[in-house]
Amino acid sequence: MALPPHAIVPLNLGHIWLADMSLGIPVHGFLIKHPGGAGLVDTGYGTPLELIKDYRPVNASVAEELRKHDVDPSDVRWVINSHLHFDHCGQNAVFPQAPFYVQRAEYERRHRYADTPAQWLDFAGAHYELLDGEREIVPGVRVITTPGHTPGHQSVAVDTTAGPALLTGDACWTVKMFEGEAPLEGMMEDIPSFGQSLDKLRRLRPAAIHFCHDNRTWRPSG
Ligand SMILES: [Zn+2]
Repeated sequence: MALPPHAIVPLNLGHIWLADMSLGIPVHGFLIKHPGGAGLVDTGYGTPLELIKDYRPVNASVAEELRKHDVDPSDVRWVINSHLHFDHCGQNAVFPQAPFYVQRAEYERRHRYADTPAQWLDFAGAHYELLDGEREIVPGVRVITTPGHTPGHQSVAVDTTAGPALLTGDACWTVKMFEGEAPLEGMMEDIPSFGQSLDKLRRLRPAAIHFCHDNRTWRPSG
């Protein structure tokens, strides 16, 4: 099944400051307007903001962002978390009805992420669907393993009428990184795996790439 390209809707989920890198970055999640029901890729950071105050977060509600696009949080049928750092799964609890699709390798090391408050992940009734590799989640939406940022990181490929659209999570942060700029120290746990994952994403010949931490969308030139 191929979706129209505009079925992928970026959600503005605030911005954070990475002191180690002296870098301010936007935070995005993505609504997927699928004919079988709405889906979501990544949920931004949560509240209270005090829990992550070193990152200087601003208020950002995924529920409000969804409503701007005429989607109620209770309408969301499924959620994919690219990985379990605090800025990608922080508002999972807004979707108690939805299964959260995460790689098992990622889920099993979630407690190592000191900056991800356990309550944002392990809330009452949370239902994680643990994946061991690639899987089509709903027709036309598939997760692809892209280790490097974390060992259990996954990206999402959406079949669109324009070709494959990728949501790279933190496998690749920006347009410039996709085009070859080296990641800064601390952006990737494992640089060789990052490079292999990036090659894998390039081989998919994407028609568009949407980033969690870049306001720009990459498209092939020419
Ligand atoms: Zn991130």
